[in-house]
Amino acid sequence: MKVLLLGGTGEARALAAALPPGIEVISSLAGRVPDPALPVGPVRIGGFGGVDGLRRWLLTERVDAVVDATHPFAATITAHAAQVCAELGLPHLVLARPAWAPGAAALVGSDRDAAETVVAHGYSRVFLTTGRSGTAAFKGVDAWFLIRAVTAPDRDTLPPNHELLLSRGPYDYDGELALLREHRIDALVTKNSGGAMTEPKLRAAETAGVPVVMVDRPPLPPGVQTVATVPDAVEVVGTWVRR
Ligand code: NAP
Repeated sequence: MKVLLLGGTGEARALAAALPPGIEVISSLAGRVPDPALPVGPVRIGGFGGVDGLRRWLLTERVDAVVDATHPFAATITAHAAQVCAELGLPHLVLARPAWAPGAAALVGSDRDAAETVVAHGYSRVFLTTGRSGTAAFKGVDAWFLIRAVTAPDRDTLPPNHELLLSRGPYDYDGELALLREHRIDALVTKNSGGAMTEPKLRAAETAGVPVVMVDRPPLPPGVQTVATVPDAVEVVGTWVRR
């Protein structure tokens, strides 16, 4: 069986390592970061060229099934994979890590809504952790931002007053708390990414009394089979092989 594993996450790398050797896995990365963490096994990098490109690629490569282990906010590739797999009748699974419980966070629907919430509350020292594509919505906001991202956002998407912190998780509670205090942060803006690697910032914010603005996840395409953990994904792929 030949499986396309849509990746770019720690879970996708863990799944590539966990699937049994009898299954041929090709991992796919979007190519957004110059030095991506690579999974074991064959990897292809770059977009497919939309729905048509993905359909063509799956047919040309004679792929039998697709596991989508992309980030919960990578909604476009997730929609494309769901559509093409349904059309071609290919087994398809989404591995989606559980969302965080929002707790006392202000839950908003988009980066733009998050920016409006920051303005409405008059937050002035914001820890912005929505990633390189999340800064544009804050460009016109009159506040100081500590922006943490894996790769630098484009210059013209950055708010005028900011400090850029380029780093890749995981992060720990003590470090996150120190960061909040050192920079006198008065609001944390985050996506509801879920997972343990970046969750300590939420606990640190709670300890420090820093309010959280959380961008809610985009919905999954209707009707897709979904699991929450790597072992569960291994299990489902195993049932495909045994069919
Ligand atoms: P997206 O908005 O859903 O996708 C935009 C386009 O990027 C897709 O239409 C596709 O191009 C290409 N693409 C995305 N993921 C791909 C993959 N795994 N393999 C090949 N092409 C892919 O995606 P995104 O939010 O920009 O995320 C891009 C990648 O970064 C994903 O692999 C995701 O897992 C990872 N990531 C995203 C976030 C986040 O917050 N969004 C955080 C951490 C990691 P074509 O239409 O040309 O096929």
